[in-house]
Amino acid sequence: MSEKKEKRKGKVLPTLKFMFGIMLREKPYFIVIYIIMGITSAAAGIAGVIFPKFIIDELVAMGGGDVQTHITAAILWAAAFMGVLVLSGIIAAAGNYVQDILREWFNEYIDRKLAERAMEMDFQHTEDPDALDKLNKAQEGMSWYSGGIMGITDSVYYIFTNVITAVSSAGIIIFTCPWLLPVQAVSLVLITVFQAKINKIERLSFVELSKYNRIFGYVFWHLSDFRFGKDIRLYDSADMMNRKAKHYSEKMLTVWKKESHDERGFQWIMDLTNSLRDGISYFYIGYMALTGAITIGDLSMCIGAAGTLYFSLSGIIDGIQGIYNKCSYAHRYIEFMDYPAAMSKGTRKVTGSSHVIEFRNVSFRYPRSEKWVLRNINITIKQGEHLSVVGMNGAGKTTFIKLLCRLYDVTEGEILIDGVNIKEYSDEEYRRLFAVVFQDFSLFAFSLRENIAFSDDTKNDPAVNETIAKSGLADDVGKLPDGLDTMIFKSFDENGTELSGGQRQKAAIARALYKDAPVVILDEPTAALDPIAEYDIYRQFDTLVGGKTAVYISHRLSSCKFCDRIAVFSDSTIKEYGTHDELSEIPGGIYAEMFAAQAQYYVN
Ligand code: ADP
Repeated sequence: MSEKKEKRKGKVLPTLKFMFGIMLREKPYFIVIYIIMGITSAAAGIAGVIFPKFIIDELVAMGGGDVQTHITAAILWAAAFMGVLVLSGIIAAAGNYVQDILREWFNEYIDRKLAERAMEMDFQHTEDPDALDKLNKAQEGMSWYSGGIMGITDSVYYIFTNVITAVSSAGIIIFTCPWLLPVQAVSLVLITVFQAKINKIERLSFVELSKYNRIFGYVFWHLSDFRFGKDIRLYDSADMMNRKAKHYSEKMLTVWKKESHDERGFQWIMDLTNSLRDGISYFYIGYMALTGAITIGDLSMCIGAAGTLYFSLSGIIDGIQGIYNKCSYAHRYIEFMDYPAAMSKGTRKVTGSSHVIEFRNVSFRYPRSEKWVLRNINITIKQGEHLSVVGMNGAGKTTFIKLLCRLYDVTEGEILIDGVNIKEYSDEEYRRLFAVVFQDFSLFAFSLRENIAFSDDTKNDPAVNETIAKSGLADDVGKLPDGLDTMIFKSFDENGTELSGGQRQKAAIARALYKDAPVVILDEPTAALDPIAEYDIYRQFDTLVGGKTAVYISHRLSSCKFCDRIAVFSDSTIKEYGTHDELSEIPGGIYAEMFAAQAQYYVN
C-alpha cells in the first residue's frame, strides 16, 4: 500500500471514532433511528424484488386453474406489498424529518466547538501561518467536502442498508439463478476500478479548487465586509477586486473542465461494462425461463434481484470510498482540535494584591524566525510603579508586552511574578492580572456595553457607567440612540453606530478600566494621534490608574515625564533605564536626544 493510502486509511478509524463519539454522547437515540430506517429501507427494496414474483406467478397460474382463488391470492400479495411500501415510506419520512433537524444541530455543534477552540488556543498560533492554514482546512474539511458528522453518518447508514439488501438479493439469486452471481461480480469489480480512477481525479481537483476557493471567498465575502468599505471606495479598488474574483473563478472553471475531460474515457468504459452485464444476464435468465427451469415470476424476481444486488454492492463500495474521502477531509477538523499547545499550562493561583514583575535575562525570537527581537532584558517593575517604555518602531516594545502577558513564552531567561516563573500560573489566573489596550485593539459587532464589560448581564452594574464617565465617553454615549446598548457597526442592527477614532480609543480605555486589573498597559492605542493629544490621553489615564502598576508604550515620550521609570528599547535590548531626570542627563544618550527633538510637545 502506498504511503498516501496508508495515511488516508489511518484517518478513517480515528475520524469515525470521533464522530460517533460525539453522536453517542450528544444524541444517542439518533443511532437507533438510523438502524430502524436502514432496516425498513432495505426491507422495502427486497419487497420490490420478491412480491412481484408471487403476483405474477398467481396471474400466470390463472390460465390453468381456479381463477377466483388465484385472483384473490394475487390481490392479497399486492395488498401486502403496498402495506410494506406505505409503512416503510412513513418511517422514511419521519426519519428524514428527524435527520434534517439533527443535521442543523450537528453542524452548529461542530462550528461552535471549532470557534471555541480557535478562540482558546495559544495566542501565538493566531500569528502562525501553519495553525491558520489548519484552521481553514478544518472549516473546509468538515463542512464543504465531508458534510460534517451527518455526511459521514449518511455514508455509514448507506453501507448498512446496502449490506442488508446485498445479502438478501444474493440469497435470492443463489437459490433461483446462481450463474448471475459471477456476472454481477465481474462487472462490479471492473466498474469499481474505473470509479476509483474517477474519484482520484476528483480528489486532485478538490485540492486545486480549495486553494482558489479560499482566495475567491476572501475577495467576495471578506472584502465585501462594510469595514473595508472606505478603502475600497476611496481607492477605487472595486475594479481590482472584481478582476481578481474573475481571475480566480476562471481558474476554477479550468480545473472543472480538466476534471470532466479526464473522467470522460473512464465513464465510457463503465457504460460499456454495464451494457454487457445486462445483455448476458437477460440472455441467461430468458434461456432458463424458456426451458422451464424457472417460472415467469422467478424470471422477474431474478432480474430484480440482479439489479438490486448490483446497486447494493456498488452502493457498499461507494459508501466505503465515500467514508475514506470524507474522513480524510473531516480528519482535518480533528487535527486542528488536537493542535498541540505551544505553551505548558500551569496551575498556580495568583495570590495577594501587591505584585512585583521581574524579567531576568530574557531573550526572544518569534517561532519560525531566526532573528532575536529581544536580547538579555533585565528589568523589575514594582507594585504601583508607572513605567514608560519608549523606542523606535520595531524596537520590540510590543513584543515585551506580549511576553509579559504570556501571549508568547520567552526563548531564553525567565519572567517572574512575585518571584515565581509565570509559566507556573494558570492562564486564566495570570491573565486576570493585566488590562491591556493594544494598538490594534478590536471592537466587536456587539453593544457598546458588551464591548466594555464582556458580559451581557451588566444592566444594573454601576461600575459600567462609572467607567464610561472616567474614560470621558459619557457625553458620547448620551448622544447614541440606545445609549450604552447601541450596537457597534451596522452588521446586525440598522441603528448600529460607527464610532469615531477618538470614541473607539475611549471605549478601549474604558474596557481596560472596567476590568479593574492590578496591572494596566497602554500599548500605543494612540499612535494615530498627534503627540500632544497622545500626551493628554496618557496623562488622563495615568490619573485614573492611580496606585495600580502601569506600563505605557510609545515611540514618543508622551508618558515619560509623569512616569516613575523609563526604559529605552533599542537594538533589541533596554539601552537606558532610569527616571526622566537621570536619562536626560546622559550626554549623547538616546533618551536625551529624543527628548531634545520632541521637547516642544512636553516642556509645558
Ligand atoms: P515595536 O512595538 O517596538 O514597534 P514589535 O515588538 O512590534 O516592535 O516588533 C519587534 C520586531 O519583531 C519587528 O522587527 C517585527 O517585525 C518583529 N515581529 C513582530 N511581530 C512578529 C511576529 N508575529 N512574527 C515575527 N516577527 C514579528
